Amino acid sequence: MKINVFKILNKTTAEGPGKRFCLWVQGCSRHCSGCHAKATWSHSVNKLMDVEEVFALIKQQKDIEGVTFLGGEPFEQAQALGMLAQKIQETGLSVMTFSGNTYENLKSSKDIHVQNLLKYTDLLADGEFIENEFDLSRPWIGSKNQRYVFLSGRYSPKDVMQYKNKIELRIDKNGAVFVNGMANFKQLKECLAKNHKIPEKNYAC
Ligand code: SF4
Repeated sequence: MKINVFKILNKTTAEGPGKRFCLWVQGCSRHCSGCHAKATWSHSVNKLMDVEEVFALIKQQKDIEGVTFLGGEPFEQAQALGMLAQKIQETGLSVMTFSGNTYENLKSSKDIHVQNLLKYTDLLADGEFIENEFDLSRPWIGSKNQRYVFLSGRYSPKDVMQYKNKIELRIDKNGAVFVNGMANFKQLKECLAKNHKIPEKNYAC
């Protein structure tokens, strides 16, 4: 079973509780106004990776607390991510999944793969990004309507609220910058554009 991958970070502390392996999937049908991850919208193949291949990479990371799925829209690849999430949880790691959909909509879906991904998710961050409700007061999410849904006993509201939003910037050996995390991306892009022209594909939130 293949996953259409936008980007993988082996370790990040900007996308969920603790240190995490992070997988951005390629493809999102929602097209929220103000989305700063537009490069993830296309469903064209970016990089196809087998579930087992991604799981092998995860197992190589020795000091992570869990894995985060975001995108793109993870629930548009629910079958593969559900399989991966089950394997991850069986190793004792946690799974955090982002969705532009609401928990209520996902919960009422007749798609067994959607239900399976929910089953193996500990912490769901739900709801579309709404530009007019922009709010950075809570970690990892950027608009007031978005929520944390605790689907297992692994995390609680108290666990989540000890974190603050932040961004990470990575500069590779060729000088390309990759930015992830949550911030005012509009301002950030304006600020970075003064000195660096960073392509859209190098932003993920
Ligand atoms: S904010 Fe998330 S759900 Fe909305 S268009 Fe962007 S990637 Fe898709």
